Amino acid sequence: MNENWIELEKKYHLQIYGRLPVVLVEGRGMEVYDINGKKYYDFLAGIGVNNVGHCHPKVVEAIKKQAETLIHTSNIYYTIPQIKLAKKLVELSGLDKAFFCNSGAEANEGAIKFARKYASKVLGKDGGEIISMYNAFHGRTLTTLAATPKPKYQEGFHPLPQGFKYVPFNDLEALKESISNKTCAIIVEPVQGEGGINVADKDYLKGVRDLCDDKNIVLIFDEVQCGMGRTGKMFAYEHYGVKPDIVTLAKALGGGVPIGAVILKEEIGKALNYGDHGTTFGGNPLACSAALASVEVIEELIKDNKVIEKGDYFIQKLKNLKEKYDFIKEVRGLGLMIGTELEFNGSEIVKKMLERGFLINCTSDVVLRFLPPLIVEKEHIDSLIDALDDVFSKIEQK
Ligand SMILES: *Cc1c(COP(=O)(O)O)cnc(C)c1O
Repeated sequence: MNENWIELEKKYHLQIYGRLPVVLVEGRGMEVYDINGKKYYDFLAGIGVNNVGHCHPKVVEAIKKQAETLIHTSNIYYTIPQIKLAKKLVELSGLDKAFFCNSGAEANEGAIKFARKYASKVLGKDGGEIISMYNAFHGRTLTTLAATPKPKYQEGFHPLPQGFKYVPFNDLEALKESISNKTCAIIVEPVQGEGGINVADKDYLKGVRDLCDDKNIVLIFDEVQCGMGRTGKMFAYEHYGVKPDIVTLAKALGGGVPIGAVILKEEIGKALNYGDHGTTFGGNPLACSAALASVEVIEELIKDNKVIEKGDYFIQKLKNLKEKYDFIKEVRGLGLMIGTELEFNGSEIVKKMLERGFLINCTSDVVLRFLPPLIVEKEHIDSLIDALDDVFSKIEQK
C-alpha cells in the first residue's frame, strides 16, 4: 500500500520534498505504475529526464552490458565510454571539448568556474561578475543558487558567493546596461523551465551573442532542461541560429542515470590546466554508456521534425482549451517543453490529474508544465487533453 511507505518516508527521509501521495514502482515508455498497480501517463518525465521514455530497451541494454563489464574507475585513467560520449556531444554541439559531472547544478558550477578562470587568465578581467536572468533556475548549490534570483530559494542560505547580477529575461537593453568591465559571463536558459516555460524571443539570443562578442564575455547556455531533444532539436539554441561558448547539460542526458556535462570552446578549455577542476564520479563508464545510448535514441526521435510536430499539435490542443476557459492566461512552449499559465495556483489541477492517471506538474505557482517523453503519441496527448478539459470544466462550475 502507498500509505505504509509514505509513513516510513516521513519517519526516515528529510522532510524537504512536498511529494504527491503515490509510490511509483515501475515504468515503461509513456507509462508508470504505482504500488497499487494504478497506471499513469507520464507527462512530466521525471522533470525532463526520461526523454526517451521509461526503461528504454536500448538504454537498459547499455546499462546492463556496462554493469557487467566496468561500473566505475577513476578519472586518473582513460575509459572508453567517456571518450565516445565526449566525441558525440562535441560533434552534435559544434563546440570543442566536453567535461562530465553528475547533475545540472554541478554542470553550471563548472561552467561558471571555467568562465571565471578564462576571463581572469586569458582576458585579464578581474571581478568575475556573472549576469543571470530573473526567473532563471540554475541549481541549488550555493554558487548556482546565487545565479538563481528566487527569494524563496535563497532565503536563509546567505551569505551566497559574490559577483552575481540579475536582469529581466528577454530584455536586451537591460542586459546591455548591466554589463561592466568586470562582467565575465552571461548565463541564460534558451527556454526557462522552472521559471514558467518562458521561451527566448526570436532575436534575443542573437542579440545576447552579439553583445558577448562585442564585450569579450563568455556566453553560457544552460540547456539542462531544454537540451537533449526536448524542444525538437538536440539543443534549443539550434532554433535561434546562435552558438554559445559553453553549454551545460544534465537531466535527459543519461536516460535516467545521473550525469551532467559542460561542453565548451577550445579557447576556454585552454585556460584550464590539469587539476584545476574535477570529480570522482563524473563521466564514469556506467553513466556514459547510458548517456551514449540515450543520445543515440534521441537523435532518432527528433528526426524529420517529429518532436516539433508533436509539440505543435499539443500546443494547439491546449490553445483550443484556452478558447474555452477564461482562466487560462497563456499557452506557450517550444517542441515538447510546454506551459499553460492559469489565473490561479495550479497545484489542485495537478492533484486532480493525478487521480485521473496523468503525471503533470505546476511551476512558478501558476504554470502547468508538460514535459512528456519524446516518444509521446497523439493518442496520449488527446487523452490528456480530454482529462484536462474535464478537470477544467468542474472548476468553472464552482
Ligand atoms: C534542473 C535544472 C538545473 C539543476 O539540475 P540538478 O540536476 O537538479 O542539479 C539547472 N538548470 C536548469 C535549467 C534546470 O532545469
